[in-house]
Amino acid sequence: MKIGIVGAGLTGLSAAYKLSKNGHKITVFETEVKAGGLAVGFDEKNWEWSLEKYYHHFFINDKFILQLAKEINHKVIIKRSKTSTLINGTISQLDSPIALMKFPFLTFAQRLRMGISLALLRYDPIWRLFDRFRAIEVLPKMMGKKGFEMIWEPLFKAKFGKYVNEISLAWFWARIRKRTSFLAYPEGGFLMFAENLCQKIRDNGGKFYFNSKIVKINSKEKATLEIIGKGGKKSTFKFDKIIVTVPSFIFLKITPSLPLNYKKKLGRLKSLGSTSLILRLKKTFLEDGTYWLNVCEKESPLMAVVEHTNFMDKSYYNNEHLIYIGHYLSEDHPYFTKTKNDLLKKFDPYLKKINKNYRKNLIGMEFFKTPFAQPIMSVGYGKKIPPFETPLKNVYLANIDHVFPWDRGTNYAIELGQKIAKRIESS
Ligand SMILES: Cc1cc2nc3c(=O)[nH]c(=O)nc-3n(C[C@H](O)[C@H](O)[C@H](O)COP(=O)(O)OP(=O)(O)OC[C@H]3O[C@@H](n4cnc5c(N)ncnc54)[C@H](O)[C@@H]3O)c2cc1C
Repeated sequence: MKIGIVGAGLTGLSAAYKLSKNGHKITVFETEVKAGGLAVGFDEKNWEWSLEKYYHHFFINDKFILQLAKEINHKVIIKRSKTSTLINGTISQLDSPIALMKFPFLTFAQRLRMGISLALLRYDPIWRLFDRFRAIEVLPKMMGKKGFEMIWEPLFKAKFGKYVNEISLAWFWARIRKRTSFLAYPEGGFLMFAENLCQKIRDNGGKFYFNSKIVKINSKEKATLEIIGKGGKKSTFKFDKIIVTVPSFIFLKITPSLPLNYKKKLGRLKSLGSTSLILRLKKTFLEDGTYWLNVCEKESPLMAVVEHTNFMDKSYYNNEHLIYIGHYLSEDHPYFTKTKNDLLKKFDPYLKKINKNYRKNLIGMEFFKTPFAQPIMSVGYGKKIPPFETPLKNVYLANIDHVFPWDRGTNYAIELGQKIAKRIESS
């Protein structure tokens, strides 16, 4: 079959790899200049590896990405990384049952209750039932109000903002179920992993059009798509089947002929965007070696501070220490219109509370933003997932909204790409 794939993120690349391996003629269209989608990396002078625009790692039980890495011969680095929590000005490691038992701000009975609740959730196989309940209502009753309010509530609020009361317990179950203390990262970064995958697709006869924005998809006898390529040049391509992996709101924009009821249903799926301020420092920021710091302080505008080089060695980045300050936000949030200097000014007093000397060590900053980063897994989400088939004949949608109950991630993008490839071959 002649198959067009829209989007060179990991869903599109995984589908392209599987289908090209099975002998289909694949063409991938990507609006950006590089592959990788939300996991794409950028380079700086004298860096050996690229760095993701948004913090990325995966878990050691993420079997789809691990299997694919093995198949394409891409080395994966696995390391124990330290996750901590900032509460009342104190950083406490909080990433294992033993660390929880040592946590200073709860009584022994409160720690024990939280530990037992998390263990019960983690090993509970009946997650489907959890999709009927709101996480924020059930969790304080299970693990105790004090512990929930201190550790989890600030994280829920920071991650989901105005949607915090809607989030399904199934989503939280999946987070707890999957978490591993050892984390994994592809050698060279996710961009190198994506580029390695692109090369394998090319070896199988696949073609890529980068810098090519799909502006219209239609389907009559054949599925067709229209691109605007370099220099604004418009071209039309015809395929037996088209797989669209872009976020649902973009799919709605580029397919004007969709029926109204489908548009309404798909349009109901909510999401948040993300901003990522990256600080490049001469010296470490989180001096206790923490990789991931959850900020659970009510007055702080920080959500998480992630020191990538407390996970991957700084020597790959010209010995720079790389810090992410990430946020999930509605598209209309003022941070989207701010400059990196505005944001640093806002965060500076809170960053100084963590490391008072960091400013002296600042070499540079990067700022990235995306309008789509996190689907809102509201109660009953399992029933809201759109089918792969769309009302347009031979046009299929497989995107981040199809990942459930797991939180979106590269592992699930790869699984999704494989699933949609299988569906198309059997249709
Ligand atoms: C802040 C943040 C942190 C994350 N952390 C992690 C993590 O630690 N671990 C992890 O595994 N995952 C993480 N993820 C999630 C992970 O990046 C995604 O789940 C995954 O990359 C999604 O892949 P995808 O191919 O489904 O979608 P995308 O990556 O969104 O790919 C869609 C592609 O379509 C392209 N496109 C859009 N419109 C058009 C158009 N009109 N024409 C042509 N092309 C178009 C886009 O440019 C993009 O390349 C994180 C994401 C964010 C935002």
